[in-house]
Amino acid sequence: MEKRVRLRFAPSPTGGLHMGGVRTALFSYLFAKKHGGDFVLRIEDTDQTRYVNGAEEYIINSLKWCGIEPNEGVGFGDGPYAPYRQSERKELGIYKKYADQLLASGHAYIAFDTSEELDEMRKRLEAAKVVAPQYNAVTRQNMRNSLTLPENEVKKLIESGLPYVVRLKVPRNEEIRFHDIIRGWVTVNSSQVDDKVLLKSDGMPTYHLAHIVDDIEMKISHAVRGEEWLPSAPSHILIYRYLGLEHDMPKLAHLPLILKPDGNGKLSKRDKSGLPMFPLDWFDERTGEKYVGYRESGFTPDAFINMLALLGWNPGDNREIMSKEELISNFSFERVNKSGAKFDPEKTKWFNQQYLRMKTDEQLADAVIPLLEAKGIHKEKAFVVEFCRLIKEKAHFITEFFDLGSYFFISPNSYDEKVMTKKWNHESKELFTKLAVKFESISNWDSQTLHDCFQTAQTEIGKLDMQVLRVLTTGVAGGAQLFDLLALLGKEEVIARLNASLSIL
Ligand code: GLU
Repeated sequence: MEKRVRLRFAPSPTGGLHMGGVRTALFSYLFAKKHGGDFVLRIEDTDQTRYVNGAEEYIINSLKWCGIEPNEGVGFGDGPYAPYRQSERKELGIYKKYADQLLASGHAYIAFDTSEELDEMRKRLEAAKVVAPQYNAVTRQNMRNSLTLPENEVKKLIESGLPYVVRLKVPRNEEIRFHDIIRGWVTVNSSQVDDKVLLKSDGMPTYHLAHIVDDIEMKISHAVRGEEWLPSAPSHILIYRYLGLEHDMPKLAHLPLILKPDGNGKLSKRDKSGLPMFPLDWFDERTGEKYVGYRESGFTPDAFINMLALLGWNPGDNREIMSKEELISNFSFERVNKSGAKFDPEKTKWFNQQYLRMKTDEQLADAVIPLLEAKGIHKEKAFVVEFCRLIKEKAHFITEFFDLGSYFFISPNSYDEKVMTKKWNHESKELFTKLAVKFESISNWDSQTLHDCFQTAQTEIGKLDMQVLRVLTTGVAGGAQLFDLLALLGKEEVIARLNASLSIL
């Protein structure tokens, strides 16, 4: 029987979740949803020295904002396999049981080496020109472990309280073959695989043991992760095999790297392309570094995940704009590339613009209102809806709306110099004062009436420049359709602005 489709996203709370991590979550989510399966959030916090406060909450909030919410796991409700935090699972003795099984079957051993001894070993090997020094089938023979020490001494050392770790006993020269849905069959010789630590001296499991135990116990069907984990996959295959669980192991999928815009190396969280690397603002309290988020930069979550989905995947044709539902129904790991995917900042902005254009003025206003309120601007919704209609064509981002049209909310206190130098002359003040009087007589204050009134004023009053009218009422030389804008501002405000401008010019 085919296993129920269950995918997990298993980040370590060692910092903010960068966009590469969000893509891993997204691909897992899309696959799970496509097959009517589960998407689980597991927090892999076994490395307590790297634990960062706030990271777990950040991960949860990011998934929520992106709309890729797990249906089970930390922050999303306990399912049948709780707890979902590895530190809590360790307290229940879940991992030790498996480590003990490997010790009992002779596939793992105890090692007492101190960090100084491990350093010495590394130096010795480097001096002997060994390229990648590691604790393995050859080198372990010269170290202090349960394979080299007599049994009674091992027992004595353990009883004396000497710290020890449990290591995987990797055979010397064996082919390890495994299948990856994206990469096909991969073969590695065990001589390239080190004797990974499975349990640390504080009793905490390492990632290598913990994720295997959890993937098995949580009945995970597909383990999706970044390419950087590919080199440790052979050790994982051995662990499954030695636990007698090879047939229950999840299918593996190692996603391609996300590359810098010039294709030169992996995209780093400190990338300088000008676009965020994190979904939400992130402050790293250890280093004091601040990272800007997509959300705070005015991206919509649907544009963000659409862009991410196409970093390494394609639907088989040249479609680019796809809703979450379309992504779900088209997604497959077979269409994920093996080679790295270049991050394209311009294209990323383009995605956001396309999504902004698809939104109704009402939806745009809902997103703009909080940004205005943060600036202390409180306007009724109908005004903001119309503002959005008039300004949206010019914007890539929600956050640009205010800057592009601040004159909708603030009366001018300076006047475009270029326009005024060229077009303002000794007659202008008198002509525009007359126009203000004419405007005051309008009873039906709408765009068409304003337009018509301006037209007739041209013959009745004299040559009135429309751009000057714009500068007098907004301060700037260009922007939203003028009569629509004046209609929205309202009669009182427009007359007040005109009079204020004319009194100082
Ligand atoms: N905790 C690992 C990480 O943060 C997860 C890798 C995996 O998904 O197996 O990258």
